[in-house]
This record gives sequence, structure tokens and C-alpha cells, in this order.
Amino acid sequence: MTILPLRHSTMQISLTNPPFKTPQIFPFHQPIFSPKQPNQLSLQTHVVNSLKGSGYLSEISKAIDYEEQYRVAKSQVIRKGLDLEGYSIEGVSIGGHETCIIIPEFKCAFDIGRCPTRAIHQNFVFITHAHLDHIGGLPMYIGSRGLYNLKPPTVFVPPCIKDDVEKLLDVHKSLGQVELNCELVALDVGETYEIRNDLVVRPFKTHHVIPSQVSILELTSLVYVVDFGLLPSRTLQCVADLITDTILSPEVAFTGDTTSDFMLDPLNADALRAKVLITEATFLDDSTTIEQARQHGHTHISELIENAQWIRNKTVLLTHFSSRYNIEDIRQAASKLQSKVSAKVVTLTEGFKSLYS
Ligand SMILES: [Zn+2]
Ligand SMILES: [Zn+2]
Repeated sequence: MTILPLRHSTMQISLTNPPFKTPQIFPFHQPIFSPKQPNQLSLQTHVVNSLKGSGYLSEISKAIDYEEQYRVAKSQVIRKGLDLEGYSIEGVSIGGHETCIIIPEFKCAFDIGRCPTRAIHQNFVFITHAHLDHIGGLPMYIGSRGLYNLKPPTVFVPPCIKDDVEKLLDVHKSLGQVELNCELVALDVGETYEIRNDLVVRPFKTHHVIPSQVSILELTSLVYVVDFGLLPSRTLQCVADLITDTILSPEVAFTGDTTSDFMLDPLNADALRAKVLITEATFLDDSTTIEQARQHGHTHISELIENAQWIRNKTVLLTHFSSRYNIEDIRQAASKLQSKVSAKVVTLTEGFKSLYS
């Protein structure tokens, strides 16, 4: 267990925001038809046959097509979320294209990618580094929250890029003559920031071709440092006054882009024991060597396999695969890591093609 004092004051999170609404192609909450029963189907067929040539047939066919599209779209929406250790993690991560990982339970997103619609709901964004596939959608994210009258978000960035991010937002404000309201927080390695009464974020150092850092979200619980047996007459309030420290329990760690060196840094031990580790495995086969992967600031999955003994997480979510791979390549490579670790190995394959599709 790590014991760290909190350095920042608690932020208040408004719970009064109206539900987020976007236009929908299909009315997900209201199917066009209720589920078909066999006798209803035959009745529909009879009606359709009797209406042939009447002009209504094409309308009914369209409605049936919509129902089928609704069914397919709904199944895709359901498939997007991953239930990992109690967190419904979702998002998209394709190396060089876009990375945005959303954790609705924490109202946050790790990196913003191209700003997928679902990310607009999240109040906090943790940017790991300034490559476009991780930060490109930031002005759109901030602008979209304003468009929907959501409160200005809090965006965390490595301190070395804060000034440039401010300039980037200023350029968009000037170009579009719009407001882009957000709280931009430079959070350095070793600092902590309390984003909720029981939730803290803490950056760690990673190794990429430009400055980068990982983020860990940790749930907090209070530690009583007094011996209750010696204080029989004290009231509960007196005891509460003696609370001096907080235990941080690492829940979710996200590495962004990094070489496997982050696993060897003793200061990153908490990332490797968080319940969920979300990390990258950009390269999966012999077409790219480990050395080439390192030169590009990325991880080859064989390095994760070599360092498997350091992985103490309950679940490892692999992300940021090169777009050259298909879903079958990814699952096959992940199964090799699975055979070396007790953690459950899961892959984020949203946006990748299957051999069979
Ligand atoms: Zn990337
Ligand atoms: Zn990068």
C-alpha cells in the first residue's frame, strides 16, 4: 500500500448536468416494431402481399430495413464496452490514427484521439503526450462541451506542453471566433490531484520519442493513525481530527505510447499492480523488430512477454496496435502473453477488421 498526502484541494463535480443528447439515426429507445411473434409475422406477410402495388409496400419495406439496421447498430453499441474489474471501459486505439480510452465510472478519458462522441460526456481528460493521434481532437472536445452546455472540462497535460496547448486553443478561438472554456492543469510526475473525494490521479514517467507520462487513477480511503485502545474517552469527532494520511489503492493505469522500459522503473510499480493496466503493444510480429519498436518509442508484444513477471495487475488491456494487423493477428499475439501472466489479457479491437468481415 502506498501512503501519500494529497496536495490539491478537492474539486466539486456538478451532478446537475442535463442528460447529454445527440441526434440519433435510429431511435434506440423506441424500436420501430416490437419483437415479432410467428403469427404476427404471417399477418404482416399477408398485409404486405395485399398491399402490393398500393404504394404502401415500399414504406413497409423501408421500415423493415430500418428495423434490421437498428438491430445491427444496437448490437454494435452493446459490443463496444468492455467490463473490466467493475469498470465499463470503452474507446478506440489504433496506432498512429487515434487513441481515446473512456472510463465512464470516473467521468474521464485517457487521451482524446479524434474526440469520439462518447468522450464529450467525460468531465476530465488526461493527455499523455502531444502526438496528433492522442491530442488532435482536443479543441473539438472542448468546443463540443460548450455547444451542448456542459460545464467546462478539466484537461490534464504534462507541464512541458501546457504553453503550446494554450496557444493551440488560442488559435482555434481566433480562427473560429468561439469560446473554448476549460481548466488546463499541468500535472507533473510525482504530483497528485484529487478529482473526486475518493479519487486521485497521479502521473508517472514513460519513455516515448517526445515527452510523455502515464496516468494512474487511484481510489482513496482514510487511514486512522491513532491507537483507539489508548483513547477510550475521545469522541468520534476528536478521533476524526487525528486522521493524518490517506491510503491510495491503484485502480486503473494508462501508459499511452511508451517503450517497455516503463515496466523496469521501480517508481512505476503502482502501475504494474493497478487492478487494470491499459498499455500499448503497437507491434505484434517479426515484421518489426524489438529494436525498431524501441526506436519509434513503442512496445513490441514480445517485450511484454519477456517482462511478464513484473505484471501483477488483475487485467491487462492491450491497445494501440498498428493498423496493419487484423483482429485475428491481435488475438493470436495476445494469447501468447496470456500464457505467461495470471492477469486476464484483453484486447481493444474497436476499428480493426476481421479476416472474416
Ligand atoms: Zn500513438
Ligand atoms: Zn506517440
